[in-house]
Amino acid sequence: MQLPPPVFRFAPSPNGFLHLGHARSALLNFDLARQSGGRLLLRIEDIDATRCRPEYEQAIYDDLAWLGIAWEEPVRRQSEHLALYREAADRLMRDGLLYPAFESRAEIARLVDAKDRTGPWPRDPDGAPVYPGTGRRLSVAERDRKTVSGAPYALRLDMTEAAARAGILSWTEQGAGPDGETGTVPARPEQWGDVILARKDTPTSYHLSVVIDDALQGVTHIVRGQDLFWATGVHRLLQELLGLPQPIYRHHALVLDEAGQKLSKSTRSTALRDLRAGGTTPAGVRRLVGINQP
Ligand code: GLU
Repeated sequence: MQLPPPVFRFAPSPNGFLHLGHARSALLNFDLARQSGGRLLLRIEDIDATRCRPEYEQAIYDDLAWLGIAWEEPVRRQSEHLALYREAADRLMRDGLLYPAFESRAEIARLVDAKDRTGPWPRDPDGAPVYPGTGRRLSVAERDRKTVSGAPYALRLDMTEAAARAGILSWTEQGAGPDGETGTVPARPEQWGDVILARKDTPTSYHLSVVIDDALQGVTHIVRGQDLFWATGVHRLLQELLGLPQPIYRHHALVLDEAGQKLSKSTRSTALRDLRAGGTTPAGVRRLVGINQP
C-alpha cells in the first residue's frame, strides 16, 4: 500500500515584510517537501484585521517566488474562514471550557502588579504574566450583566479544567526546543495559563485557527521557528479537545540579529525585499540562513 505524501505548510502573517527568519522556515519547508515527495501549502494567517495589509500579502507571494519557492494553489486565507473557527469556539464554550474575561490589558497589568508584590507571579514562556483568572471567578449573573452592557471581552480557556480533561499529552519533535528538547516532548500547556482563544469582535485566535487549519488541510509536518516551540503544548491540548489528528513537529533555530535578538518585521536590514534591492541573490539568502541547495 502506498502512503499518502507528507504535507508541509508555510503560514506567515501579512503584518510586515518577510525577513531572513521567514526565509529559513519557508526554504526548510520547501526543501523537505521536495525531498520527501510531499506537498507544500501556503497559508495566510490574517485574522488580525488591524495589523494585516494586502500589500504585505502581495509581498509574501513576491518574496517567496523570488526565493524559488513553489506552493500549491489555492492559498488559504484565514480571514475567509472565520465562521469555521467560531463553530469550534462555540463547541468549547458548550463544553464549559471557555469563559468571558472582561479586564482590559491595563487592568490585568494592575492585578499582576499587586500579585507580584507578594512574590513573583508566574510568567508564560514568552515572558508575559499569566492571566490571574479573575474572570473565571465571576458569577453567572455578573457575566450576563457585563455581556448585556456591551463590554468587550476575551474568551479564555479554563486551562486547569481543559488539561484535566485531556490528560497527559506529548508531541513528536524532529527538530529541537530552546534547550535541545527532542523526540517525545511532554506538552505543558499549563505554562500559558488561561489563554485567549477568541474575542468579542474576532471569533478566533492564532492558537485556535492554526490547529483547525492544519487539521483541515491535512498537514502532517509542521516546520517552524523555535519561538513557537512551547506554544505546541497549547496546540496539542486543542487538538485533543477538538478531536483533531496530531502532526509531527520540527522547530528550527531562529535567525538572530547582531545583538543576538530575534528578528522583527520592523528591522529593515534583514527584510528579504531590502536584501534583494541591495543585490543579495536567492542563493545568498540560502547561505545567510544556512540552508544549502539540496
Ligand atoms: N503565523 C505565524 C507567524 O507568522 C506562524 C504560525 C505557525 O507556523 O504555526 O509567526
